[in-house]
Amino acid sequence: MARTGGPCKPTLVRRRRPRYIARMSEPLPDPAPDPVPDPVPDPAVLEPMDILVAPHPSLRRRARPVRPEDRALLRALLPRMYESMYRAPGIGLAAPQVGLELRLAIVDLMEGEVRAPITLINPEIVCASDQLAAREEGCLSLPGQYAEVVRPVGVRVRYTDLDGGGHEIDADGLLATCLQHEIDHLDGVLFVDHLSTIKRNMILRRLAKEQRQKASGAGG
Ligand SMILES: [Zn+2]
Repeated sequence: MARTGGPCKPTLVRRRRPRYIARMSEPLPDPAPDPVPDPVPDPAVLEPMDILVAPHPSLRRRARPVRPEDRALLRALLPRMYESMYRAPGIGLAAPQVGLELRLAIVDLMEGEVRAPITLINPEIVCASDQLAAREEGCLSLPGQYAEVVRPVGVRVRYTDLDGGGHEIDADGLLATCLQHEIDHLDGVLFVDHLSTIKRNMILRRLAKEQRQKASGAGG
């Protein structure tokens, strides 16, 4: 996450009520054994992509920028990525979480249960407010785990769309948290990395234990 304390002050235009980054009422499918998604999917099928669970190594690598020649693949994969996020259900998903090490993330706060998807290609935080706030976060790659994370209250994010058009978004509240959380994923950073080492290790150990129990339960 880039944080700048410079003269750039984002205009905070979006007010959001607190909600979780990921709403995890049900367990996720088993962790994906194959980090590389089907390269030629049929978008009409809308088969969700498997969401990788920590400590999968793809979640820890810095993703490369999306290039124009990647757009055809992304056009085919994005509907499946959205399907994964909506089914989970979550309100944000970064490409590395589905094994695609590209700087791409999708967000949909689903306010009022109405879909309002935002596809962010090569997003970057261009400025962030000095004011910080703690908000509880969860992550589809750390199912069932939540913790309060301190981040800037507001951010300005620059990104392009699938057609190469440039956009900027000024966000605060939940949207600002979600954008920072997803952009972190593109740099191999998980929300637990913002916590103390003790807290982070506690959550990662608990997750590993729960995943083991789930795996053995599924086997029996
Ligand atoms: Zn996440």
